[in-house]
Amino acid sequence: MSEERIPVVDLAPAEVGEVDLYQKRERIYTRKVEGFFQRLRLYTGWPLLIMYFGGPWLQWEGRQAIWFDLPARKFHIFGITFWPQDAPLLAWLLVIAAFALFTVTVLAGRVWCGYTCPQTVWTSIFMWAEQLSEGTRNQRIRLDQAPWSLDKARRKLQKHAMWFGFSLFTGIAFVGYFTPVRDLVIELPLAEANTWSYLWVMFFTLATYINAGWLREQVCMYMCPYARFQAVMFDRDTLIVSYDAERGEPRGSRRREADPRAAGLGDCIDCELCVQVCPTGIDIRNGLQLECITCALCIDACDSVMDRMNYPRGLIRYTTENALEGRPTHVLRPRLIGYSLALLAMAGVFLTVLLTRVPVGLDAIRERGQLFRQVGSGMIENVYTLKIRNMSEDAQSYRIGVDGLDDAVIEGRTEVSLASGEVLAVPVAVRAPRERLGDNRSVPIVFTVTATVDAATSASADSRFLGPGPVR
Ligand code: SF4
Ligand code: SF4
Repeated sequence: MSEERIPVVDLAPAEVGEVDLYQKRERIYTRKVEGFFQRLRLYTGWPLLIMYFGGPWLQWEGRQAIWFDLPARKFHIFGITFWPQDAPLLAWLLVIAAFALFTVTVLAGRVWCGYTCPQTVWTSIFMWAEQLSEGTRNQRIRLDQAPWSLDKARRKLQKHAMWFGFSLFTGIAFVGYFTPVRDLVIELPLAEANTWSYLWVMFFTLATYINAGWLREQVCMYMCPYARFQAVMFDRDTLIVSYDAERGEPRGSRRREADPRAAGLGDCIDCELCVQVCPTGIDIRNGLQLECITCALCIDACDSVMDRMNYPRGLIRYTTENALEGRPTHVLRPRLIGYSLALLAMAGVFLTVLLTRVPVGLDAIRERGQLFRQVGSGMIENVYTLKIRNMSEDAQSYRIGVDGLDDAVIEGRTEVSLASGEVLAVPVAVRAPRERLGDNRSVPIVFTVTATVDAATSASADSRFLGPGPVR
């Protein structure tokens, strides 16, 4: 892609500058930091990793607990099985997850990004592998600037081997959610797995390697949609990582024993440690920025500096815009209450639908070619196709019935058997005496299917019974 440059005309007509639309990425060498928030990130990152890698290995009632069985079009999540008909329920679950994210963002900013987002957690592991192979920040900078040597090649090879190994585990675990993982890990090395499994493992291995190894903060800054719209959910009471400019400025270096006030300085010693630890490479002293993922590593870095200087901690801290300006922070505010109530209502509806779901479905479709026909002595017949779905884990027998019209009877089959997951189209004819229709050309009727072993497992479908109309 060729570089495009466009002239920018400032207010002063004589000054014409240029903006580079395809700015070259500056490599970020992050410095390792220890502290409270770094430990907190470990406590949030490890459970996520354990859940992700351990998830496919869990068993529930004799089968994989979390198994998205695409060929059978069934999603098993512990004891619950979702069928294609449950797609709205799963979509609803995603909406609930999005609302949960909005609610957390209003309350505490981008804590999801800083602590539990897979991009952040996986990137942290890749950074750890990088430090283990290539050393500290300064050593890595020197290594990259040095000409190629055996040692440099060995270190780079070790880093990429670790990245690739972890990516491969990630890819296998991911595919393990879609195909029985216990078979997959045996079949993959023996070249006995199916082609799709190999393709998807390769795809997710490569995606992980590129995202966490190479793209890193670029994903947060340019690819993640959440970063784009999270700013609209912020208000002056949202928890953000902030630099206290009033306390820190004017910044400048000084000796540890020097009195900063006497020297006309604030508490910031301009050591740039907060910039060096930042995974997105920004300077939090420039204010709240789109790139900030609220990981709080700059807080740990600055607190360690404050400790060394014997200054109070918190020059960079979690706070709110209101608190920074000396105004009270309101935790409970209309927007947060609104989001929370909406979230509770949506979760309530989801749970109610989930818990009252019956594992049988029924649709009734009228025969298109014929409205009705007169049969025998004074009987009217309508023909329908009933679509019955067995959404239980076992084969079932169902009784078919019709209600809503006195003396209406089903001609033919009234009991059917379906295998687990089967959808069966059953043609049925309903007959009723003409006088039961009175002068009506159409009366509502209800078809029912009821499991023979459990009357509570039942579904119904509305339809209409048509007749000739007023008797002359
Ligand atoms: S500015 Fe601080 S909180 Fe924001 S991304 Fe950088 S290190 Fe993390
Ligand atoms: S780490 Fe603290 S003292 Fe050092 S530059 Fe950043 S804000 Fe200033």
